[in-house]
Amino acid sequence: MSKFQHFLPVDDEGYYGRFGGAYIPEILHANVENLKEAFYHWADDEEFKAEFDDLMRNYVGRPSPLYHARRLSEYYNTNIYLKREDLNHTGAHKINNAIGSALLARRMGKKRIIAETGAGQHGVATATVCALMGMECIVYMGATDVARQRPNVERMKMLGAKVVAVTSGNKTLKDATHEAIRDWCCNPSDTFYIIGSTVGPHPYPEMVARFQSVISEEMLRQVPQLTGKELPDYVVACIGGGSNAAGAFYHFIDRPEVQLVAVEAAGLGVDTAETAASMACGAEGIIHGSRTMVMQDADGQIIEPYSISAGLDYPGVGPLHAYLHSTGRAEVLAATDRQALDAAYRLTRLEGIIPALESAHALAALDIKKFAPSDVVVVNLSGRGDKDLETYLKYNEASGK
Ligand SMILES: *Cc1c(COP(=O)(O)O)cnc(C)c1O
Repeated sequence: MSKFQHFLPVDDEGYYGRFGGAYIPEILHANVENLKEAFYHWADDEEFKAEFDDLMRNYVGRPSPLYHARRLSEYYNTNIYLKREDLNHTGAHKINNAIGSALLARRMGKKRIIAETGAGQHGVATATVCALMGMECIVYMGATDVARQRPNVERMKMLGAKVVAVTSGNKTLKDATHEAIRDWCCNPSDTFYIIGSTVGPHPYPEMVARFQSVISEEMLRQVPQLTGKELPDYVVACIGGGSNAAGAFYHFIDRPEVQLVAVEAAGLGVDTAETAASMACGAEGIIHGSRTMVMQDADGQIIEPYSISAGLDYPGVGPLHAYLHSTGRAEVLAATDRQALDAAYRLTRLEGIIPALESAHALAALDIKKFAPSDVVVVNLSGRGDKDLETYLKYNEASGK
């Protein structure tokens, strides 16, 4: 029925190799089917695309610049270009997906939007888009996160969203996600669930990647204009659930001459219990409706992850990345809290750009891996660091910087 072109290495059931799929309770089956049909129908629709493109340009501020970081390049003796997602409205890449998803919700006649959020970045992006489109917005957030991410909670409230503090489990992202899924089960007909990363049951990982693919679509034009090369040698991105990396990799996945580098959060180290590196430390399992790499104990119980960066503090990873890792198409690194903090200070002092702590993990690849003087290395700067100032200052005092 659909003229939909996948682009990603995914089949009609949502499998990337042996990862992905849709492991959902029966009650959500119709919801997910309807979503899949709507997404495949609208994603390539000219009017839908025109509306998406118009908001990307005039509301988000796209295309985001590809910036040649000269002093950083000199420091690392290679050619570093930063894809400036930090300059987007609301300060990160998450708005790209929130807008695409909300436009789809409107096409499906849904008036009530729900979302889960950890640090609050996805919650803020969703609340922003709901204000823009006049939709009801309910954001589920762990009670622990509500307490430690106060500015984002206030932002969501000002934007008109209802923030529900979830008090079950560890009171963090995983519990907020469970609660959002429960809400969706109870309100299947009028509610659209906007997931903030390339996770969840099919078609979410593919859908979120498609909305984020605007990042690499722009790079395809920008790299030849700026570097004199047709394609970058490397594209580097941090991985929480994997949406900014999926967007940055998207149009390069079938171009083997472009090396893809994903950076997980190692926390205190991949050989400690305090880590969020689900590909380095996890095993195959099912989380939030998808078969992927999950941090789990011998009984298959999910292990609480740890990272200094709230946006990477997730015990799973999107199935696309588990697949790219398993086939060797992407190289997966893990950066510790310390490596990310050092990389963040380096960018700040050499280029005058304060990155999000998440993005700082991608920058840490420059310390972990050696690049050649002739390489063109594009680092996806997924967000800005305003939200992380308190953490940065704490580190500053501790290390005397
Ligand atoms: C949420 C977030 C991430 C992690 O999410 P992905 O889906 O892996 O991209 C990374 N960077 C920033 C700035 C974020 O807000």
